[in-house]
Amino acid sequence: MNNSYETVIGLEVHVELSTATKIFCGCRTDFGGAPNSHTCPVCTGMPGTLPVLNKKVLEAAIAVGLATGCEITRVGRFDRKNYFYPDNPQNYQISQLYFPICRKGSVEIETKAGKKSIGITEIHMEEDAGKLYHAEDGTSLVDYNRSGVPLLEIVTEPDLSSGEEAVAFLEKLRTMISYLGVSDCKMQEGSMRADVNLSVRKPGEDLGTRTEMKNLGSFRSVIRAAEAETKRQIDLLEAGEQVLQETRRFDEASGTSFSMRSKEEARDYRYFPDPDLPPVVVSDELIEKIRSEAPEHREARILRFEKEYGLPEYDCKILTETKTLGDFFEEAALIAGAGDGKAAPTEENVSSSYKKVSNYIMGELLRLQKERGMDEDEIPMSPEHLAELIRMTEEGLITGTVAKQIFEVMFDKDCDPRAYANEQDLCILKNEGVIESAVDQILATETGPVAEYLSGKEKVLGYLVGQTMKALQVKADAGEIRALLLKRLKDRSE
Ligand code: ADP
Ligand code: MG
Ligand code: ZN
Repeated sequence: MNNSYETVIGLEVHVELSTATKIFCGCRTDFGGAPNSHTCPVCTGMPGTLPVLNKKVLEAAIAVGLATGCEITRVGRFDRKNYFYPDNPQNYQISQLYFPICRKGSVEIETKAGKKSIGITEIHMEEDAGKLYHAEDGTSLVDYNRSGVPLLEIVTEPDLSSGEEAVAFLEKLRTMISYLGVSDCKMQEGSMRADVNLSVRKPGEDLGTRTEMKNLGSFRSVIRAAEAETKRQIDLLEAGEQVLQETRRFDEASGTSFSMRSKEEARDYRYFPDPDLPPVVVSDELIEKIRSEAPEHREARILRFEKEYGLPEYDCKILTETKTLGDFFEEAALIAGAGDGKAAPTEENVSSSYKKVSNYIMGELLRLQKERGMDEDEIPMSPEHLAELIRMTEEGLITGTVAKQIFEVMFDKDCDPRAYANEQDLCILKNEGVIESAVDQILATETGPVAEYLSGKEKVLGYLVGQTMKALQVKADAGEIRALLLKRLKDRSE
């Protein structure tokens, strides 16, 4: 790519709030109901109906505003954005143009290039539109279940200079918002969508003409779209042509974008204050209440995990990547650390139980999530079962290898590990006779390695332990096998 240009990106991020009901009526917001079953006269735009703002939406917007360092607008307003489209039954969308609820914030991101502060221009509240289905026979159907679902639109300054930075910003935003508990921010399910505004310029020049790519649905497509669009704009400029200000659609399959329409301006929408909704008056008390009741954010949780569970910073950062994962760790750790209730656990035992929980999560759990193509906050097993598995290893009931095997089964089936180990006969063999006869069997069949050992090649011992272990289906203690082998071999060499 031509290095004499720099990329300039500003994002418009839509986040679907997880309130129980819609922004201006009492209809449910949950996904997956029969088409048009979560609707009423308000969210289907019937004449004579009046919208009433859902207080939870306002509170969520303020919480996100405070987390992103914004100023909260004390007297806000809703405006009508007028346009006709069948997914928009009122012929206008209720949004905020003139007095958005939050302004002038910033979010710090970290990339390989270091830390950088990204300005937040504004955050406003608005309603989502319905959904259209275009059937193959040429007919179209509309489902208004999504009509009136609350959205926050978060607009950044043009402070980002690459797709990677845009993704770092989106990840940070997703973490902040999901910790606040106001949205799950799942890009693949559409609860977080990003429009990428992008222009290129030579360093020191004024901002170039931008294009806007709509509704990118994954971090990967944000990066790909930014790269492709940067190249397309540079090629145009280098060929002496101009970049047109337009809205483009990125096509996942081909990795290229194409023009949808020339860019509309705010004035095209004939925005005007919505006369059906009174001004949104925000009191100091409300802001203070939201500030003081804000749940723990990730940075605070990292520090607390280090302190309370004595874990390395490295572990704490991974364990807090999503709120769900941190919650899972904490539940499992508290149960595992409590011991078996028979003897009071010592401080040392407790902290080693915490570390074991962390290791299982960072190692096995994240690996299996990835292998199964699951989402980062999809944890199909219960924390009780992980704690129980750890207790079984501490009791010396199963070997580490078997524990990992059971972990995988628990991950897929969430079974009770103790019951499963008994059922599958996986517990360590306590019957010495069984181990002894396996050792004797190995010594009798592995004559070559035994001879090598006796002639001084002591490394062969590891092999013999391994073979015995295998014969016992990894259900014995390696130390015990080793000791027994040594004893027998010593008898022979004498
Ligand atoms: P609109 O609401 O019409 O899309 P805005 O002026 O509000 O336009 O800007 C929307 C987004 O575009 C913001 O994130 C802003 O940072 C970004 N943006 C504006 N100008 C540029 C530019 N020249 N290059 C890249 N991004 C830009
Ligand atoms: Mg825009
Ligand atoms: Zn409704």
